[in-house]
Amino acid sequence: MSSIAFTNIATLVTNDVSSGDGVLGVLRDATLVVEDGLIASITQGEPSGVDSVIDCAGKTLLPGFVDSHSHLIFAGDRAEEFSARSRGQKYTAGGIASTVDATRAASDSVLAHNAQRLLDEALASGTTTIEIKSGYGLTAADESRSIEIARSFTDETTLLAAHVIPQEFKAEPHAYVDLIINSIIPQSSAKWIDVFCDQGAFTPEQTEAILRAGISRGMLPRIHANQLSAGKGVEIAVALGAASADHLSKSTAADIELLASSETVATLLPGAEFSTHLESNLGRKFLDAGATVAIASDCNPGSSYTTSMPFCIAAAVSLLGFTVEEAVRAATFGGAKALLREDIGTLAVGKKADLVLLNAPSYIHLAYRPGVNLVHSTYKSGRAVTSWQK
Ligand SMILES: [Zn+2]
Repeated sequence: MSSIAFTNIATLVTNDVSSGDGVLGVLRDATLVVEDGLIASITQGEPSGVDSVIDCAGKTLLPGFVDSHSHLIFAGDRAEEFSARSRGQKYTAGGIASTVDATRAASDSVLAHNAQRLLDEALASGTTTIEIKSGYGLTAADESRSIEIARSFTDETTLLAAHVIPQEFKAEPHAYVDLIINSIIPQSSAKWIDVFCDQGAFTPEQTEAILRAGISRGMLPRIHANQLSAGKGVEIAVALGAASADHLSKSTAADIELLASSETVATLLPGAEFSTHLESNLGRKFLDAGATVAIASDCNPGSSYTTSMPFCIAAAVSLLGFTVEEAVRAATFGGAKALLREDIGTLAVGKKADLVLLNAPSYIHLAYRPGVNLVHSTYKSGRAVTSWQK
């Protein structure tokens, strides 16, 4: 058994509202002890009998960020498309096709190397758990290898074969839906099933059929809904008991109420709002309605090419009307809820010691100092790590 004590923690964010102040359960000058990768105690006294001590004087310790929405298995980039948007071009689902071409042409090692690079970035900015989607292969073989590569990095893998209709099926989209249901899903080892239910992507009928096919194979549902236009995605998500409905930029008042009265988490993606100039400002409404809210990076080469959860926290405050506390909670506790994970996202006895230590006296600096990497160290199961491993 090995033990480590984090002492003199200037600000400790626990997300445990029963033990600390406010929605973040904040404690001052705390000591957190880790034994064998799990949190053994949280006190305000001196530790005794521990193997090693980390003095956190002047620093902030909080749960590692839980990024519940990313698309890391791809090749190439779309910098020119981003540049065109800065000149006024609108974002559409169509740009995904160029990444599909590059991904199909890439070797497994190119795809894995690219994902590792992005995961190392995420780790350096405090992410300790990440969900990774497929969705740039769109053939049985390419979706299958995308999930296998994702599985080498995380247990939270999501089959998103229903990202867009691939070019070769444009004239007969129903045939691609059949391929997903009859071939791609049965061959997939992903934990989650997801559909991009939106204008230019999949219809509500197709979405429901694909999610039901995944569920019948033991996958858990989640959804991309209301990014580009209002639709039935939220209704379908709630009816099927999805863990999360993501994007939600164009949600109606009825959608917001429905999510707030359900177990489905509302996952907002401020990096996408930032990068696509959607100018959505609905975040506050989900919070006011009482929905459980997560924020995630949506890291992908088209609409949100960031791995930084601190950036997403700052963007949620600036663009979506979150308080700093709500944004930090959404990036930790909310992300864990969106992945149905009880072992992470909260710092309490028995939880996993996935931690991020900030070179800052308060978590407020995450939004107050945008674009500055304040992360001193990231810990997975109590161990400081600098390169992403599953
Ligand atoms: Zn997405």
